[in-house]
Amino acid sequence: MKDRYRRFAALTDVGGIKSAIGEAKGFFFPKQPRLNKECAAGPGDRIPDEEWFKKTIKEKVAVHPDNAMEYPYYGERMFEEPLVGFVRGDDPLLSEYKKIIGPHHFTPYEIMRWQAEKNRVPAPKAEDLTIVSFILPISGQTKDDNKSSGEWVSERWAQTRLLGEIFSQTLVREIVTDLMGRGILAVSPDVTPFSNKKRYPGVGWASPWSHRHMAYAAGLGTFGIHDFLITEKGAAHRCGSFVVALKLQPDRKRPEDIHTHCLHYQGIECLACRRRCPAGAIDGKSGHDKEACMKRVAASTKRNLKNYHIFIYGCGLCATGVPCESAIPARILKKAGA
Ligand code: SF4
Ligand code: SF4
Repeated sequence: MKDRYRRFAALTDVGGIKSAIGEAKGFFFPKQPRLNKECAAGPGDRIPDEEWFKKTIKEKVAVHPDNAMEYPYYGERMFEEPLVGFVRGDDPLLSEYKKIIGPHHFTPYEIMRWQAEKNRVPAPKAEDLTIVSFILPISGQTKDDNKSSGEWVSERWAQTRLLGEIFSQTLVREIVTDLMGRGILAVSPDVTPFSNKKRYPGVGWASPWSHRHMAYAAGLGTFGIHDFLITEKGAAHRCGSFVVALKLQPDRKRPEDIHTHCLHYQGIECLACRRRCPAGAIDGKSGHDKEACMKRVAASTKRNLKNYHIFIYGCGLCATGVPCESAIPARILKKAGA
């Protein structure tokens, strides 16, 4: 059956190559939909609200044909029911991110201004924008596979890293296209020319739009010492976000402590993630060493090409086989009296 894998993946996994270069350099982003300027909502028209976004994202994850693995796992769904949250475009935390993450990090206003200019319409004010953020929890089978791996990413996880990212972008593009067709400005920061991951001075490897930080801002989770976001569905997930010119109401409370759900930071013995890391990139005192992690993750590309026939890097070992894998750790909930 092995011959059903693609051959010479370094050359023939076109989706993987495009995704990797696009992520690193901001190339190959798909054409943006045009704003339908003829279409303005009338008094009886239903403007998409918070429920519309939650329902639409959940439905796409449940039935979209692209939420699926490739050979040898044909038909398996990568993601389970998502979590969805909202951040107001003028939330002060978004400007704070310029200091916390770095000046390279975009605000939703800056991203939307680009989209507005492209469509020759005035840029909406920050207060008239909302970030829609979502968490795509990884399937139980994939988590179990990664949990059983001690050194390198499992095949299911590697496929989810590649095809899951492509699916996440497709999901957002379909929603953005729908909204633009209704005359509502919307933009996915992932597929703009700004979307390039690189080493920033004093910051290290970073992207100009952090989906994880947007998810934290939306109250969807808090950071673990491994830098994954620990949500009510755990840390084993992918996250995404996009910006819309609508005033949506955030409906989740954001904990002030960015480490509320991490046992170690709450003074409870754990560091299971440190024991899972084959690169020694997690330390109880200094936290997560992004450079050491990136080196290890990048080294997996060659192995994934040879063994899994896909062009992708990945790891996620520290997000599986740990107390925060699939939920907020029980000891945190107990301490909080939940
Ligand atoms: S495994 Fe433990 S220490 Fe590591 S991030 Fe999860 S809760 Fe925190
Ligand atoms: S992703 Fe892998 S290399 Fe990076 S910290 Fe987690 S276990 Fe270590």
